[in-house]
Amino acid sequence: MSDIIRLLPESIANQIAAGEVVQRPASAVKELLENAIDASADRIQLFIRDAGTTYIQVKDNGNGMSETDARMCWERHATSKIKRADDLFKLSTFGFRGEALASIAAVSQVEMKSKREEDSLGTELKIEAGQVMLHEPVQCPTGTSITVKNLFYNIPARRNFLKSPSIETRHIYDEFNRVALAYPSIEFILYINDIETLCLPRTVLRNRIIDVLGKKGTGELLEINETTDILKISGFVGSPEYAKRVRGDQYLFANGRFIKEPYFNHAVQTAFQGLIPDDFFPYYVIFFELDPSKIDVNVHPTKTDVKFEDSKIIYSILRSVIKKSLGNYTLTPQLDDNQIFNFNTSVDNEVITRFNSPKINTSYNPFSTDIQPNKRLDWSKIVDPFKLTNSNFYEGGEISKDRNEPYIEPQLFAPTEKLTFDAIFQMTGGYLICSKNHELFIVNQNAAHERVLYDQFNNHYLHQTMAIQTLLFPRVVEFNAADFTLVHSLLDEIKLLGFDISLFGKNTFIINGIPALNDKADSQLILEGLIENYRQNEQNLHLERKENLIRSMARNAAIKNSETLTYSEMENLLNQLFHSIHPNFLPNGKPVLRKISQQTLGEMFVK
Ligand code: ADP
Ligand code: MG
Repeated sequence: MSDIIRLLPESIANQIAAGEVVQRPASAVKELLENAIDASADRIQLFIRDAGTTYIQVKDNGNGMSETDARMCWERHATSKIKRADDLFKLSTFGFRGEALASIAAVSQVEMKSKREEDSLGTELKIEAGQVMLHEPVQCPTGTSITVKNLFYNIPARRNFLKSPSIETRHIYDEFNRVALAYPSIEFILYINDIETLCLPRTVLRNRIIDVLGKKGTGELLEINETTDILKISGFVGSPEYAKRVRGDQYLFANGRFIKEPYFNHAVQTAFQGLIPDDFFPYYVIFFELDPSKIDVNVHPTKTDVKFEDSKIIYSILRSVIKKSLGNYTLTPQLDDNQIFNFNTSVDNEVITRFNSPKINTSYNPFSTDIQPNKRLDWSKIVDPFKLTNSNFYEGGEISKDRNEPYIEPQLFAPTEKLTFDAIFQMTGGYLICSKNHELFIVNQNAAHERVLYDQFNNHYLHQTMAIQTLLFPRVVEFNAADFTLVHSLLDEIKLLGFDISLFGKNTFIINGIPALNDKADSQLILEGLIENYRQNEQNLHLERKENLIRSMARNAAIKNSETLTYSEMENLLNQLFHSIHPNFLPNGKPVLRKISQQTLGEMFVK
């Protein structure tokens, strides 16, 4: 048998490499922008059409290329940035692999015009799927313009793999913003579908952040600036009150290159601890400058993954630099004396374990539907309470004798997809009127929410998964001796309900977090109400501790009948209710809803 191993044709090898470097239009944008910066441009224009799928153009006023370089740069491993292996360890440019242009050319139709300052004529080049179609002199301004048309036109599989235009455009914005933030001294102009969408004049970092991230400016941005033996850290962090529930604008750069490093993000997050809730995220734009030989950017072709030699030390420095600037900021007297917080601005060099992430995080919406798909709801099985008035289970709003008896078969109400209603409106007194499948429902909102919360607390208590909302400022609550003793004896169970609470002193507890119910919840009122309800139930119902606590909690935290609800709050509440195992009644037997069928309606109007 003859030999079977062959070298891959150059064009196929380039396509394979392209798979790594050019994953989507935004990757091509990134490479082209970085090349323009490496070429010392101070004005860069980016043109995008159709989310970059049909047209990407980057025009710069940088150094330009000679006629030969203009042809050479499209070859794989063609770079002006590395001459010796040694150079790999002192890189100060973005590029160095000489791979980007070859990869882009392998999967698109490219056109380039480039001219150096000293040349009177520039060079024009057209390449299709790696083949040079045109190479001739051209009249053009100093600098380089590269146009990438019909990306992935020769790899349909990749093209089909792209997300929606809005998502691909979002990715392009991400890349553009990263580069724009890192180089405020360069002017950037972005055109989307031939419309000038963003024009960023040359400026200083603070203003660039305001221009790019749309921040209000002054006051909101706290400057950081520290030079140590290992590195220089500079940039801005958003002040604590601008932290958000979403991890949004968090930018870290190392030697001008955007990096993704969760370890350092964590350092910043911990510096904010005690000033913002655990599930909030600050925004920041932070730059590290350090000896290039101390970082390895060679670990991933897209080069956002970077390895640092001294990452543990950098973690500590970063954290204390930020603490320091936050400390200066919070020294201004805007906290009142009752607010306790623990803030330590000293540098601590304790060994920090990687990914020692904050405890429980929740982006909790009290009315969101917590529903798993697949199982179907049998709508018709929701009982008609009008027909139950004589049954054993329901006793006209009094507490049922046999409250543990299920009113309806539980599995019928297992979680399912989101329900929509023909109509919902709220009537004074806390009644939600809704119709679905030709039936009319009257639901008491307070009871409905209590039912929903009861189920949720039961479930979370059982699995110990209650989401905790960490308080911005811990709350100290004092009780009388009797209540203190009661709370103390229930402390473990109370924690399972989602309270982060501990003994604080004589007759006092400190609450650091409460069950994630809603943003307006007052930790002290919730705890006091819980204890009051608990006592009442203890006297009247002789419930076991857990059942009592859960019922008290649900009772106490449910929305009131006087609250006005938005349409989506009503919709979500009804969704949760109708997916409850027992939507009809509260655990104490009180009715939650009434159903009027078409038949009943008809009967109302018989002459
Ligand atoms: P790398 O950036 O890793 O060197 P590229 O494939 O991105 O590899 O680019 C190859 C070479 O082409 C660069 O090293 C540079 O000399 C030249 N080049 C690319 N883009 C430009 C530009 N906009 N202006 C001037 N020279 C450029
Ligand atoms: Mg490059």
